[in-house]
Amino acid sequence: MANRMTNDPKIIQKIIDACEACYVGMIDQENKPYVLPFNFGFEEGIIYLHSAMTGKKIDILKNNPNVCISFSTDHQLFHRHEPVACSYGMKYRSVLAYGAISFIDDYDEKVRILNIIMRKYTGREFEYNPPAVNNVCIYKLAPSRIEGKESGY
Ligand SMILES: Cc1cc2nc3c(=O)[nH]c(=O)nc-3n(C[C@H](O)[C@H](O)[C@H](O)COP(=O)(O)OP(=O)(O)OC[C@H]3O[C@@H](n4cnc5c(N)ncnc54)[C@H](O)[C@@H]3O)c2cc1C
Repeated sequence: MANRMTNDPKIIQKIIDACEACYVGMIDQENKPYVLPFNFGFEEGIIYLHSAMTGKKIDILKNNPNVCISFSTDHQLFHRHEPVACSYGMKYRSVLAYGAISFIDDYDEKVRILNIIMRKYTGREFEYNPPAVNNVCIYKLAPSRIEGKESGY
């Protein structure tokens, strides 16, 4: 079964676009891993996230902005010999994006990013009340490294 690594931005875009959620890996203040599922937006190679202004993840990211974000899709179980457990596997497409998160404070940029996220899930843009924009935390990852992998396809 073929394993193919790729840096092709078109393939990476297609894999990420097919994902409903991503998994953001962080390093907490005790140097322990902390991984959370997130909804996201992705446009022109940048990953966009949003959340409440407070919480464990915010404390972690303010202390250490380095993350590894994982995406995977097209999961498909296969086997070569039905009775043989170790002949089973899973086809998948996945991406890992590495780098440092940066927080967005500019009001108009926050609205633009909220619409990138909302477009992904609803196909449309929205209007936002100022308190909603002011009370949401928006952050982005411009990956320093991004790798795609297609396994079994
Ligand atoms: C598909 C999906 C999409 C999501 N999208 C978003 C998003 O876009 N933005 C967003 O802010 N949140 C999202 N969440 C929720 C997110 O994963 C966190 O639960 C949430 O952001 C709170 O994280 P925190 O570190 O601030 O937790 P806190 O409320 O500070 O956490 C307290 C404790 O709760 C535990 N905990 C936190 N989150 C989880 C969890 N998901 N599962 C089990 N235990 C947990 C941790 O052990 C932590 O120590 C999503 C969850 C799912 C499943």
